[in-house]
Amino acid sequence: MAKYLEASCKLCRREGTKLYLKGDRCYSEKCAFVRKGYPPGQHGRGRKKVSEYGLQLREKQKARRIYGVLEKQFKRYFREADRRKGITGEILLQILESRLDNMAYRMGLARSRADARQLVRHGHFLVNGRKVNIPSYLTKPGDVITVKDKSKKSVFFQEMAQWGSAQGTVDWLEVDRENMSGKIIRLPSREELDVPITEHLIVELYSR
Ligand code: SF4
Repeated sequence: MAKYLEASCKLCRREGTKLYLKGDRCYSEKCAFVRKGYPPGQHGRGRKKVSEYGLQLREKQKARRIYGVLEKQFKRYFREADRRKGITGEILLQILESRLDNMAYRMGLARSRADARQLVRHGHFLVNGRKVNIPSYLTKPGDVITVKDKSKKSVFFQEMAQWGSAQGTVDWLEVDRENMSGKIIRLPSREELDVPITEHLIVELYSR
């Protein structure tokens, strides 16, 4: 299975912003970006002039890294967003948000998208009562995501239930913490998304 092999914290430092790839650690003083907020490598602290293309490329890389998506798949998402009616950049983010791993994370059933991806792969989630173990599975409004009954009893998910209760919820999801499930009410609008992405730069990149 394809995955990123580069250390997560280096990705944040390269993108110049916190990507929140490591769960609780990202909110603590141990966060590498807080301690070393400059790009990794020998010339990390040197000032470089970045071209317009460079900015667009970085923005795309940042989005890929936040959602844990590989290049080929990201391009497919863009093509799909471009095909649909509406604002391409916003639709692209909505597609990324509707991935099952992201939804599980948004519901507070995992501490990070990377954790959620792992949990989905291990078959802990049901979508509308059916087991789905594909992190990139695209959910839609009306879908109900639940933790499998057997998994609910595990120490891990019991802890997650407590952890999730301490997290805020988002308006486009109806979360039932007791039953470890959530229903997708609608897809989020751009204003509702907290991701530090300037999506129009990605649209410009692919429109070259
Ligand atoms: Fe990024 Fe989290 Fe590492 Fe901080 S701890 S650098 S936010 S992955």
